[in-house]
Amino acid sequence: MHSKPKPRKAAESAFNFLPAPAHHRAAQKASRATPHRPLHVLKFGGTSVGDAACIENVLRIISSAAQKTQAVVVVSAMAGVTNQLMSAAACAAAGNTAQAATIFQELRLQHQRVAGALIPASADRRQLTHRMRTLFNEGEYLCQAASLAHELTPQMLDSIASLGERLSASLVATALAARGLTCEAITATELIATDANYGAANPCIEITRQLCQARLAPSLRHGIIPVVTGFIGATPEGTLTTLGRGGSDYSATILAAALDASEVTIWTDVNGVLTADPRLVPEACTIPEISYSEASDLAHFGAKVLHPKTLQPVMQSDIPVWIRNSFAPENSGTRISPTGTASRGQVKAITTSEAQLITLHGPAAVVPEAPSRAKAAVSALCDGPWVTAKPHSRSEFLMVVSPAITERAALALRVEFAEELAEQRIDRVSIGSVLAIVTLVGQALHNLAEIRRRTLAALHHRQIKVLAIAEQSSDGNLSMLVAQQDANAALTLLHQEFQLGELVSEELAVKTF
Ligand code: ADP
Ligand code: ASP
Ligand code: MG
Repeated sequence: MHSKPKPRKAAESAFNFLPAPAHHRAAQKASRATPHRPLHVLKFGGTSVGDAACIENVLRIISSAAQKTQAVVVVSAMAGVTNQLMSAAACAAAGNTAQAATIFQELRLQHQRVAGALIPASADRRQLTHRMRTLFNEGEYLCQAASLAHELTPQMLDSIASLGERLSASLVATALAARGLTCEAITATELIATDANYGAANPCIEITRQLCQARLAPSLRHGIIPVVTGFIGATPEGTLTTLGRGGSDYSATILAAALDASEVTIWTDVNGVLTADPRLVPEACTIPEISYSEASDLAHFGAKVLHPKTLQPVMQSDIPVWIRNSFAPENSGTRISPTGTASRGQVKAITTSEAQLITLHGPAAVVPEAPSRAKAAVSALCDGPWVTAKPHSRSEFLMVVSPAITERAALALRVEFAEELAEQRIDRVSIGSVLAIVTLVGQALHNLAEIRRRTLAALHHRQIKVLAIAEQSSDGNLSMLVAQQDANAALTLLHQEFQLGELVSEELAVKTF
């Protein structure tokens, strides 16, 4: 199978990141070179704003940052809230309005409790309560509409899913104000212009830049801290869109690019980008510095710590992105920079993601143009990990896609190969069980053949079967397909094999000399 192409530079990407005009670039360099007014974007994820105690940490981090820099804050919904909202929407559309109402009632209470714990009774708190009530009413109204129509359009789902960020931005801004900071909650519909691809909208950076400069620059000049909703954008007509699940990271870098920020910090619940997901490999350790391309590869192949598109907006302007732990701000975390530190051709991190096989059976599935046609049909659907696999037999073509798009990908393939199917030159398009992709990531894996040999030997030794291995099309990663139940064991084993737990000291040694 072929590995996915190297992450594209923003300039080559299919997304609407138009190159910044020369005068913007010059202004950007000048503003970043000005030591007095650096602009810092701070993004806080769901667990970081998960309850009142967590939000207290966040308020301390913002207050301290605001003393040194101009700060733009981006917040996610409180942990779990987006899932709850989406499930309320699905319940309503399926006619289960009672369940939707119960979810809304719980969410109302949860937010009210947090507001009560963080903000003393005051006019500001009354205003916040009113704002939250309006937002919940909007959500329930949309759910009622979905229930009456027995339909949930992607546009309605985005509006409902966005409520969590709209609530948390208001909450955090009011709590900051209660601690004496001048701030303003802003819904990113005013700032981030996107296309109408609901659920995974693509930003247009040039319009976004104009909106941000007009809306945020004056506030920043007056020392006001904007507290912006993550995850959200709007079409040029003003209809709300979302950027995809986990998209608040992306919001932060879009705003950073649009405002020529000097850096972005993504505050989360782990000490940076680790050598593996610490939930799966407890001995994983923090990588002090990593390149844009390595971090993009990790995110693309399943590391949830970053939304896969996060680095696209900052690639053109080389804005560094830090990943830090809001629960342990004393740790410096990971710096993601254009080139990272040299990993001397070594494996730097390992990740896993779910995958599903789609097989085209029949002689027309193995003609030379079949792979490129299949790729074109499926790539229009997703940015998720997918690779094409070598056929097991002479009359099969295999494709690996994310389970999230399997059904749609199979449909796209049936449409693309409709003629061959009708003429029975392709017998069928079948969907296999869910498998796992395990990916080793590093910069310039020069000795890829050796890494591949060691990987296969280590897995074979533990009787872990490699179902397919990616052919190298990038020197930055090596992917293989294993059974889902073998993924965690493979991860742990390869983490040991490549001594990733020792990476920190090696990296520090490189830095010291
Ligand atoms: P947030 O709510 O802050 O956006 P996420 O849950 O989206 O946070 O991402 C953080 C989680 O990403 C961590 O708790 C961790 O389990 C997971 N993760 C997966 N791979 C990695 C990795 N290589 N390094 C760090 N965290 C990882
Ligand atoms: N709240 C959104 C989600 O859960 C966006 C984010 O957290 O980044 O997907
Ligand atoms: Mg996240």
